[in-house]
Parts: sequence; C-alpha cells; structure tokens
Amino acid sequence: MTKKVRMAIVGASGRMGLQLIQAVHQSQTARLVAALVRKKSPLINTDAGEFAGIGSIKVVFSDDLEAISDAFDIMIDFTSPQATLSHLAFCCKHQKSMIIGTTGFDEFGKEEIKKAAKKIGIVFSANFSIGVNLMLQLLEKTAAMIGDHSDIEIIEAHHRYKKDAPSGTALAMGEKIAKALGKDLQKEAIFDLTASLNERALGKIHFSTIRAGDIVGEHTVLFAGVGESFEMTHKATSRINFANGAVRAALWLAKKNQKGVFDMNDVLDFNEF
Ligand code: NAD
Repeated sequence: MTKKVRMAIVGASGRMGLQLIQAVHQSQTARLVAALVRKKSPLINTDAGEFAGIGSIKVVFSDDLEAISDAFDIMIDFTSPQATLSHLAFCCKHQKSMIIGTTGFDEFGKEEIKKAAKKIGIVFSANFSIGVNLMLQLLEKTAAMIGDHSDIEIIEAHHRYKKDAPSGTALAMGEKIAKALGKDLQKEAIFDLTASLNERALGKIHFSTIRAGDIVGEHTVLFAGVGESFEMTHKATSRINFANGAVRAALWLAKKNQKGVFDMNDVLDFNEF
C-alpha cells in the first residue's frame, strides 16, 4: 500500500478550513494529521471532524505548530496574509511544502512567497477551482482575439465577510487579459469610476465588486463591442470545490517534490491546452 501524504491544515476552523478537513478526509491518498487554530482558541483539544460535521476523525484542534513539525508533509493555508507569512517562515525552517490559498497579499507578501520558493515547494493560487482556472485560459485566448476592440469589465461578487477587494481571482483574470493584450494591468485597471467622470477611455480594464449575503464566489468578464457583446461567467456554489482543488494541488506537489512556486496551471497541466 502506498503511504498517504500527511496534511496539516492551518486556519482549520475557518470557512475554508472546515471544507479542507472534509476534502482531506475524503481523499484516498491524503491523511489529515493536524488541524491548527489560533492561539488559545476555545476549540483546542476538540475533534476537528466533529466540528466539520463529518463525525470523529481522531484529530483534535491544536495551536502548537512546533509540536507537529515532524508529523506532516504539506501545510494547507487559507488564513490571512499576515498569518500565512508567519506559516511560510515556519515551513521554510522545517523544509515543508505549502499550499497557499490566502488572498490579499501586498507586493511585499508576494515577494516573500517568491523568496521562500527557493527553499520549498509552494502552490500559490488565488482560486483553486478547476472551472475558474479553465476560465483563465479561455480569457487569455478571448482577449487575444477580441480584446483590442472591446470594452472589458470584470465583475465579481462574494459574501459580506470577505476582507479583500477586488478578489484575488478578479485580479488574476485582469492579469491574464492584460498579458494577452501586451499591457500592464497596473496602468490599465480602473477600480473607481468616480475618480474620472469622463466617457469610457479605450483599452481600460474596469473592475466592479459586490459584497453581499452568503455568495460563495461569482466572476463575470464582459467583452463589450459595437453591435455585440460576449461574456463568460463562473459561479462557485460551494467552497468544497476550492478545498478539493487544494488537496489535488497538495498531492501533485508531493509527487513533484520540487522547490519553486507553482499555480493551478501547472497542477492541471493547462500549459498543453
Ligand atoms: P475565515 O475568516 O473563515 O477563516 C480564516 C481562518 O484563519 C480563521 O479560522 C482564523 O482564525 C484563521 N487565522 C487568521 N489569522 C490567523 C493567525 N494569525 N494564526 C492562526 N490562524 C489564523 O476565512 P475564509 O473564508 O476561510 O478565507 C480564508 C482565506 O482564503 C481568505 O484570504 C480568502 O480570500 C481565501 N480563499 C481563497 C480561495 C482560493 O481558492 N484560493 C477560496 C476561498 C477563500
């Protein structure tokens, strides 16, 4: 029997953490060995599976990362930028691979991830859904074909608790489109229309953000031309799709066993697409 890949989930009691507990538990080739929560959380020593609604899995929540440094192969982190950077330092120190789903990093944070990737293997993606990653590929092709003569709008909607805006996925979509058009997103992105009330400038990429209710995640990209428009939409209906994608990425990284920073493009092998 092949040895199962041992996973540690940090932020394990969060919205994504709970889905990750289920996804790892359901995997035939992964095993959950640690579920980490914030220091002094009231959940410490309670069964992570019970909390995730899947019954006892004999893994209790803990806040002691050092204690499990020898017990796991890959850390899965969907927390906050600040927490992820401290977990990243821990993983570098202990030579552990990492799956990073946290969004909202500033340039400093992104640089830290790149630096860490000289020491460990990392899959870093703003969106672990397979559908969104397929959409990113299609967007690149669409932008190359019709982007030059379309007004491009990226519209995203998420639940009211989301802390960053626009979403990391919306920005990744903007980056793909800008790349296909040979442009720099930093120069072409418009996040706030009220700053300039003139008519729409040609070639700009506009972003709109909705934060409401319990929307899991929706992204639409509109290419509006003269006499016709074309749009692509992805809707996540449950967070389990991100969790399954993250577990798939972790198993891929365990097999690859290489330093460097990878994304879902590498995991899904869309490069051949
Ligand atoms: P959440 O607030 O429900 O969960 C975050 C968890 O991290 C909480 O349990 C919190 O206690 C823990 N945490 C925060 N700071 C910590 C620290 N310093 N030490 C230990 N634990 C800490 O949020 P969520 O909805 O689960 O989202 C988490 C992150 O994942 C966000 O950045 C979100 O945008 C991102 N996300 C990414 C994807 C993707 O596919 N990449 C999908 C969904 C969410």
